[in-house]
Amino acid sequence: MSSTASSGRRWDGTPNRPHRPRTLRVAPDSPTRLVRSAQPSRCRDCGNRIDWYTRPDNHPISLHPQELDATAVPVASRWHVSSGIAHPADDGTPWCRIPHLSLCPARTAPTPLTPQITALRRHLALHTRRLLDTGTLTPPTPDTVAPATAQEPCRPARPIVLLLHTRYLAAHPVDTIQCVAQTRRRYRCAHPVLSPSAPAGTWTLVAATTGRRQLALPDGLMAVYDLTHLTYAELLRWRHQHCLAHAATPGAADLAFCDWEPFDPLLHHQHIHNRLPTTARHRTQARA
Ligand SMILES: [Zn+2]
Ligand SMILES: [Zn+2]
Repeated sequence: MSSTASSGRRWDGTPNRPHRPRTLRVAPDSPTRLVRSAQPSRCRDCGNRIDWYTRPDNHPISLHPQELDATAVPVASRWHVSSGIAHPADDGTPWCRIPHLSLCPARTAPTPLTPQITALRRHLALHTRRLLDTGTLTPPTPDTVAPATAQEPCRPARPIVLLLHTRYLAAHPVDTIQCVAQTRRRYRCAHPVLSPSAPAGTWTLVAATTGRRQLALPDGLMAVYDLTHLTYAELLRWRHQHCLAHAATPGAADLAFCDWEPFDPLLHHQHIHNRLPTTARHRTQARA
């Protein structure tokens, strides 16, 4: 390969590097057998280019296609790609990648932004505006947004929860999943499993796959309440559906069965949401 495509940088300060061909390969231990390479796509919210990669935990992540000057990117937003896998850290070089969600003009800006990121976001927003003006990008139709609750975050009635490598369909909204233990007065404990004193899960978009089948969803993604980062003890507490107090009471009897249901994307497709609850309903305001 020629080492110099041009002498300069792009408008956003990224190096104008020649295209490096990649060898497509499947990692021998990959459960999905997906080819480890960037999947170029466009953000369905803003129309800007993104590259889909797989994270070390096999979840998908969309990165801005160009590398940025690492000093312009907050440490928490620095990613690098190695052997086709996107890692949430820089790799010690002056360049790094950044998740598209940190730049997406259709979403609320994460704080704090560096001047360079602000400029890049503004550039992407102008591109989105051009796509909307030319009809290339179709904004979400109004009937997908409930006008009366447009400022409220969604609250899935039966969220999909990622817990101990399994996707479960919860019977209730995350904050009302109730402890199943029996109290000393022989009532069912009224406390929720979710506690402000313990780490919460995070809403994240994952590939809506079932085994090797990809579901026919608009972007193939679904929102899950991800508990993966919790300690093993906390994961067991969620799986056993106990409040903090009853998790700390060995031998406490349960009065109800846990109501986790193994999630089946075909059976439970009506509970699949392809947007994050926290960001779902701000777009009509953003475009107004
Ligand atoms: Zn976007
Ligand atoms: Zn309890």
